[in-house]
Amino acid sequence: MLIGCHGLVWTGQYNEAGIRRAVEQTRVAGFDLIEFPLMDPTTFDAGTARAALDEHGLVASGSLGLSEATDISSEDPAAVRAGEELLDQAVDVLAELGSRHLCGIVYSAMSKYQQPATERGVANSRAVVERVASRAAQAGIQVSVEVTNRYESNVLNTARQAREYVTGMDPAVGVHLDTYHMNIEETGMFAPVLETAHQLRYVHIGESHRGYLGTGSVDFDSFFKALRHIDYDGPVVFESFSSAVVSPTLTGALGIWRNLWENGAELGAHANVFIRGHLTAMSSLRHH
Ligand code: MN
Repeated sequence: MLIGCHGLVWTGQYNEAGIRRAVEQTRVAGFDLIEFPLMDPTTFDAGTARAALDEHGLVASGSLGLSEATDISSEDPAAVRAGEELLDQAVDVLAELGSRHLCGIVYSAMSKYQQPATERGVANSRAVVERVASRAAQAGIQVSVEVTNRYESNVLNTARQAREYVTGMDPAVGVHLDTYHMNIEETGMFAPVLETAHQLRYVHIGESHRGYLGTGSVDFDSFFKALRHIDYDGPVVFESFSSAVVSPTLTGALGIWRNLWENGAELGAHANVFIRGHLTAMSSLRHH
């Protein structure tokens, strides 16, 4: 099982220096994997990232949230086309990195919608995701759709919706659960994981306020216990955002209005120990 950290814990600047720094800090904090933010895959320096990953012995995944202009759940053919192009570019970057996972809000804009998703929009989204996943599969990359809360998308807000969304897709598209979003939308942290046992391919670990793990209201004991019950072995990736370190494009979309921490190195090291400690403790369930 790979334990990882979202790249925006380290820096919001994904230029050459930022990439090198983020990869190094990820390794120093004790993680196995870095999740690169690929909001703009055309400008991402995959060569620098690949070299840094090799130097530090890490692997990478990639995530993004689409925008209004690239919203594949829209009824506007131009936006749907632009979204598919952007997702294909993200797949190309990840193939260059030897990565195995593309995840995040890859099925709609990452935005507070003012109306429910439409049937035609969701059909557009599913058709694009299935085509992108097919290309990705040829490069050995799994695409997973992140269930997010109602303020960040109107398409997938619960694990049940995500299971329905991916049903029948070929190649199989995975479900990506995030404890921060689950804490807002689900009825608990245990049953949705068990019910998604066959589709779960990617996990984000975030606290209820997106700050230090263990200082909010997320029921991590139940969540990690559920991961153990289904023998989950995909990536488990820490995600946290502070106005101390954040990409300008995300600040507005995620509502990061205040500092929850200033020292990313301390925060990351703490999260690495927190996640590994919970996983170790839950592995003792086999004795019960
Ligand atoms: Mn997340």
